[in-house]
Amino acid sequence: MTANGQRPTANGKVFLVGAGPGDLHLLTIRAAELLCTADVVATDALVAPEIIALVPKTAELIYVGKRAGAHTVPQEETNRLLIDKARQGKRVVRLKGGDPFVFGRGGEEAEELAAASIEFEIVPGISSAIAGPAYAGIPVTHRAHATSVTLVTAHESDETTGVDWEALARLSGTIVFLMGVANLATITRKLREHGAPATRPIAIISKATTPQQRTVTGTLENIEQRAAGIATPALIVVGGVVALHESINWFESKPLFGKRVVVTRAREQASELKRLLEDAGAEVVQFPTIEITPPASFESLDRVIAAIADYQWLIFTSTNGVDAFFERLRQQGKDARCLAGVMIAAVGESTGDNLRARGIEPDLVPAKFQSNALLPLLEANQKGIRTAVIRAAQGRDDLMDALRRRGGEVDMAVAYETRRVSSAAAELHDIDMVTFTSGSTVDNFFELLPDPSVIDRALLASIGPTTSEAIRRRGREADIEAESATVPALVAAILRACRAMKN
Ligand code: SAH
Repeated sequence: MTANGQRPTANGKVFLVGAGPGDLHLLTIRAAELLCTADVVATDALVAPEIIALVPKTAELIYVGKRAGAHTVPQEETNRLLIDKARQGKRVVRLKGGDPFVFGRGGEEAEELAAASIEFEIVPGISSAIAGPAYAGIPVTHRAHATSVTLVTAHESDETTGVDWEALARLSGTIVFLMGVANLATITRKLREHGAPATRPIAIISKATTPQQRTVTGTLENIEQRAAGIATPALIVVGGVVALHESINWFESKPLFGKRVVVTRAREQASELKRLLEDAGAEVVQFPTIEITPPASFESLDRVIAAIADYQWLIFTSTNGVDAFFERLRQQGKDARCLAGVMIAAVGESTGDNLRARGIEPDLVPAKFQSNALLPLLEANQKGIRTAVIRAAQGRDDLMDALRRRGGEVDMAVAYETRRVSSAAAELHDIDMVTFTSGSTVDNFFELLPDPSVIDRALLASIGPTTSEAIRRRGREADIEAESATVPALVAAILRACRAMKN
């Protein structure tokens, strides 16, 4: 950016960026920054969709390089493209799986850019060659097992080219073969022919760092048979360190590893549940059944905003309410200063955090995510106290009723609505579990479900009795129920149930 905020039009730049081995969270901060600010992103087709999703819609996205089974863009064409775009003054991100300089042709592309006098930067990525074994519980070096690690491309199907098999067979350290699964038979045979013992440990790690990761271990003698049909991309690891997989295998042994779990919450509210399930190893399928929209009328909210200084208390019952309230303030040319002198309560930690992010420290945040949890904390005698409750059109009235019974004056401000949406039903295959966080998510899910049989063998997990009752009305029983109506309690109940089933 220049001082006046404009991008320079001359002097583009190319960034050769590593996208990491697959898991979005293994992307570097630098890579994420660059993806978010790129004008052009030229990516390998195999980079994970979650990573591509960071690219702004305004950027030009181009698929180059290898595409499994499909047409491959020739390297010269890719080089030409990078140079042309940079000459047009663009910030160009060339995105590659793993690290750009580990069998990624980053070296060749950098040479071309240098020769064309195009400015460029290299952004290293976490290479699958190191991270893949790590996710299989195989350290590539270990003082007791390996003092060296050798990375080899086993792409060449012609056995006579490139690889020095004699040297490899003699190495006592670790060897990681990339691009080699199709040539597994050749690799094991060549190593043995050159003197490696048939008992040498070997592992194949398929789709490393993803929910589909699979590790198969064996020896040079039996691995071909054991790993038959394994999916690509995959790595081959040879050496004594493979034995450590038994004891260190941390990723594939997570409690929910290999389980596809549906989250039916609105996308805006799903992040905590998604994160906790993913931490436990689950593959989360987002199937939001509701979405957050502006209310049919802003009348009640506008009335509260206009008279805001007359209220003693403002109660936010959800983080969506906070977003919608401040958006409406902004539209009216107002800001947080109009809340000076008003006490503020937030139901739920995330609601409180949303206010804090806007520079407002809430006066009250009850421990439980329930409007009623506020009641013991508020004045028993509400005479002369005016309260506004900022909430969804479809919210519950208990809190307002209780405050009125205590003599208070309570106004409701409808800041948003929740509406039913239809999600991508194509994702609903091989489902192991469906999570429900309210009765309405149950009703909407069952009504949106295109084919009820897709959840026949799935466990149904409910956040509490009301939600379980809604499941019962649909002719099923909740297999799992949270002890308290919070997302962490729901995930804890899921983990307990899965542990019990394993034993
Ligand atoms: N630059 C990349 C490697 C590119 S070569 C890096 O540093 O990771 C492509 C090969 O990498 C594949 O054939 C496979 O052997 C390996 N590979 C890449 N991603 C992988 C993954 N998630 N799991 C297993 N192997 C992977």
